[in-house]
Amino acid sequence: MGAKCSRVKQLLAKSYIKILMLGLDDSGKTAILYKLKLGDFIATVPTIGFNVEALEYKNIRFSVWDLGGQDSIRAMWRYYYRNTHALIFVVDSNNRKRIYQARNELHRLLKEDELSDATILVFANKQDLPDAMNVSEVADKLKLHTISQRRWHIQSTSAKTGHGLYEGLSWLNDNAPNKVAQANSCISLPARRILEASLT
Ligand code: GDP
Ligand code: MG
Repeated sequence: MGAKCSRVKQLLAKSYIKILMLGLDDSGKTAILYKLKLGDFIATVPTIGFNVEALEYKNIRFSVWDLGGQDSIRAMWRYYYRNTHALIFVVDSNNRKRIYQARNELHRLLKEDELSDATILVFANKQDLPDAMNVSEVADKLKLHTISQRRWHIQSTSAKTGHGLYEGLSWLNDNAPNKVAQANSCISLPARRILEASLT
């Protein structure tokens, strides 16, 4: 420990965990960010033709955008995929009409080379609504059980009440790859900082 570890900590101050949060529009991504209260929202990026919500909280970088209906700019997304540690895919569990569209978008993402190392966390959101599909129904409709050779998890959430958000991030904390931290035992996982976020 001591001076050597402090120096390593300094060197690694710029290391970070990159999380992409994607999903169809109206699934609840923006509401989740607000509920997490991790920091201030920054920006849309109009020059590249689609809106990106970006947020930094300590060593965590979130990029958030809507999927679907934007074929002309899909190629641009790959720029954001690079070095992604974790993908949070948000689903509106109350919308049975669009669940298959969500499934197609998810499986399209899973085929992207740049996301091949990313851990997958699905938020089955809007669970506070009485007619929402439960987690196993959402998992079934999304065909999550066909995902192989990568870690995935589905979490019941409500951006309205905060239910499940913390638990989902906690799972990510334990399961997202963090090569830098693994190589240096004196450094705590940057992702662990997620746990300092208050949901109240
Ligand atoms: P986005 O397009 O994915 O960013 O979705 P938004 O965050 O803008 O949410 C779309 C709509 O769904 C808004 O009216 C939100 O208030 C509502 N919403 C989001 N999450 C929840 C939730 O967990 N429960 C309920 N009841 N409504 C939600
Ligand atoms: Mg939004």
